[in-house]
Amino acid sequence: MDQGIHIEGLSKRYGAGDTAVDALKEVNMSIAPGEVVGLVGPSGSGKTTLLKCLGAVIEPTRGRMTLGGEVIYDHAEGGWKTKDLRALRRDRIGFIFQAPYLIPFLDVTDNVALLPMLAGRANAASRARAQELLQALDVAHRAKAQPSELSGGEQQRVSIARALANQPPVILADEPTAPLDSQRALAVMRILNQMASQYQTAIIVVTHDEKIIPIFKRIYHIRDGRTVEEAGEGRQIS
Ligand code: ADP
Ligand code: MG
Repeated sequence: MDQGIHIEGLSKRYGAGDTAVDALKEVNMSIAPGEVVGLVGPSGSGKTTLLKCLGAVIEPTRGRMTLGGEVIYDHAEGGWKTKDLRALRRDRIGFIFQAPYLIPFLDVTDNVALLPMLAGRANAASRARAQELLQALDVAHRAKAQPSELSGGEQQRVSIARALANQPPVILADEPTAPLDSQRALAVMRILNQMASQYQTAIIVVTHDEKIIPIFKRIYHIRDGRTVEEAGEGRQIS
């Protein structure tokens, strides 16, 4: 089975009858391990719906999804194939949001170490791994700080470290650079690209951000629930 993310014929209908909305219409996407792709489309085009299906937050209406070598959903075979969807979300998928959503009463290290601890990993090993990631993201000097003491850019880097903590095969990022200035946005993209190649993570970045769109080597455009694939510029980040 192929690693990475594979989506075949994915459809999502909200509601039924006259008021039904077809938010996704037979979407096909493939993201290889180590690849970072953009998902770009206007408001209401289905981006969040797609991430929610992939994140097992909502159930698709049709199609098939594979994450990290495992079929997680196959409508033709009865729907969800993964029994424990919470464990799937906790261990196999990293989420990065527009806002960092750090836990205010935990220091930076424990914000990053929390998910591995919840997944049953020893506290010391979880914190050691957190240190390593904070180092890679250039925020190790803030390891003992509280989230409220960090700048916006630092908080976002900590939230990326947290998304990587369980070494998920997949990262789903919804507008991760929207609140950042140009330099910080490019820095976040550089980190995501590095992390993808270092840990062989497959990453989808939903974005409208003109500053980062030239960075992608491959972009899926989405409009009215349908995707079209396009080669990106794949510009180097200086
Ligand atoms: P985007 O993230 O690209 O802005 P969404 O995935 O949020 O788009 O929405 C896609 C379409 O599905 C829109 O027409 C939206 O109104 C509709 N939609 C989203 N969530 C729901 C819901 N829970 N119930 C009904 N319709 C929804
Ligand atoms: Mg959205």
